[in-house]
Amino acid sequence: MSNNRSLLLGGIAIELQRKRVKRLNVRVYPPDGRVCVSAPVHLSHSVIEQALLSKLDWIRHQQQRACRPVPPRQHIVTGEYHPVAGEQLLLTVFDSVQGRARIERPDAQALHLFCPASTTLERRIALLNDWYRHQLHGRIPALIEKWQPILRVQVAQYAIRHMRTRWGSCNTSTRRICLNLELAKYPPACLEYVLVHEMVHLLEPGHNQRFYTLMGQVLPDGQQQKEILKSGMDHGLP
Ligand SMILES: [Zn+2]
Repeated sequence: MSNNRSLLLGGIAIELQRKRVKRLNVRVYPPDGRVCVSAPVHLSHSVIEQALLSKLDWIRHQQQRACRPVPPRQHIVTGEYHPVAGEQLLLTVFDSVQGRARIERPDAQALHLFCPASTTLERRIALLNDWYRHQLHGRIPALIEKWQPILRVQVAQYAIRHMRTRWGSCNTSTRRICLNLELAKYPPACLEYVLVHEMVHLLEPGHNQRFYTLMGQVLPDGQQQKEILKSGMDHGLP
């Protein structure tokens, strides 16, 4: 028996999934404004329909947002705040013609970018993303080492990717885990939460009762991280 069905409300196609969730969750995904709803298993169909009908305006608004390309940053300049591991760091750009363009974090609150003043926005973004990637590479291996004996699984490989709609993924046959580069911006517990989620898939590939029971056992506070990440996705990040 499938837990998924689709419905059409006010001309909008909605994918409905019954899950072990506490309340109705509505998500609208870029790039095409796909609408996914997860509903508690016991909630009646008419209650779900009523709730969705009252949310149609909001859904349409979210669809318009989702289908609009994310506006790229217009600049990366001194005075901006950039999120790093859940902290907002004040960026200072130093005009430096000597040496390699680079990013440094001199203390907990500051981020320094050294590059020639002529450096294009694209190049600045690439430098920042490389730095974010480097930060994650510095943190992920230790987390995998920590969780492998706890979960009794082996991760063959991990990769960091730009992903628009997912925080992570796990190929259970190759035991390869992908993590979203954006996680570098979120609190460390969020990175750990996504990694553990993907590693638990090595024990249970599906999002079923067994999966959530396992997650609840190993990360009882996971819901908190999930909420933080969810609000990030809702704000178009990534
Ligand atoms: Zn999953």
